[in-house]
Amino acid sequence: MRKFDGDTLLVATHNAGKLEEIANLIEPFGVKVVGAAEKGLGEPDETETTFVGNARIKAHAAAKATGLPALSDDSGIEIDALNGAPGVFTANWAETDKGRDFIMAMGKAHDRLLESGAPQPWTARFCCTLVLAWPDGHDEVFPGTVEGRIVWPMRGHEGHGYDPIFQPEGHDQTFGEMDRWEKNRISHRADAFAKLMKGCFA
Ligand code: IMP
Repeated sequence: MRKFDGDTLLVATHNAGKLEEIANLIEPFGVKVVGAAEKGLGEPDETETTFVGNARIKAHAAAKATGLPALSDDSGIEIDALNGAPGVFTANWAETDKGRDFIMAMGKAHDRLLESGAPQPWTARFCCTLVLAWPDGHDEVFPGTVEGRIVWPMRGHEGHGYDPIFQPEGHDQTFGEMDRWEKNRISHRADAFAKLMKGCFA
């Protein structure tokens, strides 16, 4: 496992929320964090069929373009009765002419589950894969998951994306109902980050 020993980390995202979250986690290690927008980077096409494949595209493109080690993430939800769909297409299911509509996307997931005739519980997991890539082409991969089930109707207004229909295992609330600190403690992203910190920053 290669350790991070630089002083600046490029975070390959244009999402200001993700950038801030990552900066808060990494800056205590004395590392300066810069975002893709600050470096004028574009967003490469995510052409792979796995989370790790797409995270690798983003991390390597950013590392190559800037000469800095670069961290990217790719995430989504896998529903077992739908053979893992929407998976890497989680964000795509929400696309409309007027931007992303997650109410529609959650409805689509529920419709497909009804069509499948699959009995409940509708088991599912959120996945997050982090990739830290260096300009010389080396990378380290950290997959994170949180197991749970799809529930209907939607519950809660916290969080984002598919949170209102995902109830994590061992909890009565959906991610949409859960306090953000509680979600951030048990989420797929927290799992992947703990592995990244232990692997490359400890
Ligand atoms: P990405 O930006 O290509 O990784 O897209 C990931 C998609 O997965 C997002 O658009 C969200 O819809 C969904 N997603 C990822 N993590 C979460 C989460 O914690 N809660 C709800 N939806 C999530």
